[in-house]
Amino acid sequence: MSIFDKYAPLQMRVDMMMKIGQDALGLRFDDIINATRGRIEGREILLAGTNNYLGLTFDEDCMAAAQKAVTDHGTGTTGSRVANGSYAEHIELEAALAEHLGMPSCIVFTTGYQTNLSAISGLAGDKDVIFMDADAHACIIDGTRLTGASTIRFRHNSPEDLDKRLRRQGEIEGGHALVVIEGLYSMFGDVAPIDEFVEVTHNHGGYLFIDEAHSYGVFGETGCGLAEQQGVLDKVDFISGTFSKSLASVGGFCASRHPEFELLRKVMRPYMFTASATPANICAARAAVEKVKTGGHLRDNLKLRGAQLHKGLTEMGYDLCAEAGPVIAVRRPNEAVAAMEWNWLIENGVYVNLAVPPGTPQSSSLLRISLSAAHNEADINIILKAFSDLKDKQGELMAGMAAKMQAAQ
Ligand code: PMP
Repeated sequence: MSIFDKYAPLQMRVDMMMKIGQDALGLRFDDIINATRGRIEGREILLAGTNNYLGLTFDEDCMAAAQKAVTDHGTGTTGSRVANGSYAEHIELEAALAEHLGMPSCIVFTTGYQTNLSAISGLAGDKDVIFMDADAHACIIDGTRLTGASTIRFRHNSPEDLDKRLRRQGEIEGGHALVVIEGLYSMFGDVAPIDEFVEVTHNHGGYLFIDEAHSYGVFGETGCGLAEQQGVLDKVDFISGTFSKSLASVGGFCASRHPEFELLRKVMRPYMFTASATPANICAARAAVEKVKTGGHLRDNLKLRGAQLHKGLTEMGYDLCAEAGPVIAVRRPNEAVAAMEWNWLIENGVYVNLAVPPGTPQSSSLLRISLSAAHNEADINIILKAFSDLKDKQGELMAGMAAKMQAAQ
């Protein structure tokens, strides 16, 4: 008996993956050349799975801000903001995000994951009830686990189901309802009807928390996200986001229309007991916020590229999980086929994400594409050509996979 025995089923899945090709959870890039190209095993590859929605990771101003931050303040912060103090740049970034979102309070964190962990665990106490979308991201689920609150899941993207469950719950004695949803859902690329969620939540006296990790920078006139696009930004109670997608850095933020949110800095354990974001990360994100505000042209191109890819894949007969957008997920029949095709795409110069259960809704196996404003029309044509070739090669690939599996037995 070993402490690792419980992972035997996982080991079998990994072994199956390795028979088919590369370890999807351990892929190595030898180089990232720019926002749309990388290198794997000496070969250049088109990046179509990075969540680099605005393509700002190689933006000159963002890079210069990060470089200057290292020169001015060094490489690390060496401690938490509570124990060791904040750098002026942490506070300036909070002010910039608060102003952009039109909210009186904003707190920045070291990662997006830690943001939701901190904010949800800080907001909900023993007597509160958290209502969470069925497809909630892992960090929302993990955040609820740090609270003493009871948790109720409602049907994905269904304000009607939320309404029913809030009604069934009735008065919460000594506590409140905290409703947690996302803007753009990262796996299928579908979007929430935030305006309807605002109405239902507030009708029942609850608070609405939206994770706009995949939608901040991407939607809305000034890039504030889907709540802005749907005209309800000022009504949302809490908006969280990450620096690791549109903001071209690493870190996260949570903003609120309630100034009392500031007090949570003194209770959120994942905020208090971890080191603060590095100067380079903070300053790159600060420069990226300015790009987001004036990034209408980036959002326009991202939209165009999403429409181009969605149309092309639909015409080829691929089963897509949502309308056109920056995330396009292609549904595959099972994990083995998806893994085989993912490997084939890498060998043929296109990197997408292999997304399989338990990280996917409806236990689906997906080839997930995320687009960038840095992609041009020719890049999308390269992706389309790869998916077209993949279709033509189906028979050959299936036979190859069967042979590989057999040889390994
Ligand atoms: N929220 C959502 C919806 C996400 O998809 C992710 C990560 N992909 C996060 C939060 C966490 O963000 P980060 O990777 O910056 O920690």
